[in-house]
Amino acid sequence: MSERIYLSPPHMGGREKDFVQEAFDTNWIAPLGPNVDAFELEFAEYVGADHALALSSGTAAMHLALLVMGIGPGDRVFVSDLTFVASVNPIRYVGAEPTLIDCERESWNMDPALLEEALEAAAKNNTLPKAVVVVHLYGQSANLEAITKICDRFEVPIIEDAAEALGAKQVSRPDPGTVGRMGFFSFNGNKIITTSGGGMLVSADKNLLDHARKLATQAREPVPHYEHEEIGFNYRLSNILAGVGRGQLEVIEDRVRTRRSIFERYEKELKIEGIEFQPEAIWGKHTRWLTCLTVDENILGTTRDAIRLACETANIEARPVWKPMHLQPLYREVEKIGGSVSKELFETGLCLPSGSSLSESEQSRVIDTVKRAITL
Ligand SMILES: *Cc1c(COP(=O)(O)O)cnc(C)c1O
Repeated sequence: MSERIYLSPPHMGGREKDFVQEAFDTNWIAPLGPNVDAFELEFAEYVGADHALALSSGTAAMHLALLVMGIGPGDRVFVSDLTFVASVNPIRYVGAEPTLIDCERESWNMDPALLEEALEAAAKNNTLPKAVVVVHLYGQSANLEAITKICDRFEVPIIEDAAEALGAKQVSRPDPGTVGRMGFFSFNGNKIITTSGGGMLVSADKNLLDHARKLATQAREPVPHYEHEEIGFNYRLSNILAGVGRGQLEVIEDRVRTRRSIFERYEKELKIEGIEFQPEAIWGKHTRWLTCLTVDENILGTTRDAIRLACETANIEARPVWKPMHLQPLYREVEKIGGSVSKELFETGLCLPSGSSLSESEQSRVIDTVKRAITL
């Protein structure tokens, strides 16, 4: 059996161990320290954010964003339907009620027209959401210009879930993740850079971020003894892991270049009628964190699942596109706007191995396996 090819395995840059060694040498084995401080500053500079807060996960970052923006029991929050469940669960952590907004085909991200429709209806009923959570899927920015314009009109703040979009760009605006009131990123093991687990919350609003920092450290009041006025959490990032993050951040541009070139090779060699790749929207640069394609089985004569199973048999990890939230047993009952596009992308979409450490011969193995599945 050939060695397993994973979807998006960790890819260390080289300097991570130096930063971790420094943490050991100085005995900063704690959820704070010089690596954490430096990682926050270096990250903020890279994405162009005013302030950044390193946390134990992207999920924790979103939870804190909702809390410091004052979102709680009974409030409504609009969120992308086609996403990973971690974009929605924190809405429930704070007792709020999600409404799922379908995506557009152009970018696979939140459809601005559907969002506008939903906000207009909510405004009429006096049930406007407290926030709109916009997800940037698979390394591609949502149409932030359109979405910002609509949200501004209704004075609803945006939280950006940029967990999958570090390194993505917009043509004429700041980086995805730094446009909304708050934005967050993930350094989970499968993301474009990783700290094994970790996240970053960013904002231009220092007060919001300071409050999040306090909540992340058990909400200690600034007095010598342990004094508490509100419920806090243990959400800070370890100084050891922040060292991994600093090393990873040094190579992010290279990782984007490599993932994009892997995508280009797939696109060139799988130029087959019945296969379409996730489009790159005109408003931004896609990182191609994952290369995703859709299969039209009527044209191709092969199903998405047949290709996926052929990959599995060849010891290659390929996964269906995210199962939309409105189809999840967990969120079946919640309000949704649209849902047919996300459903179709889920039923026909496949993510191919896209890790930046994927060798040319491994890419060939994936391409040959897909081609063979089609001609069978
Ligand atoms: C990974 C991911 C998250 C959660 O980040 P964690 O660091 O794993 O908690 C949230 N949203 C999306 C879209 C993700 O892909």
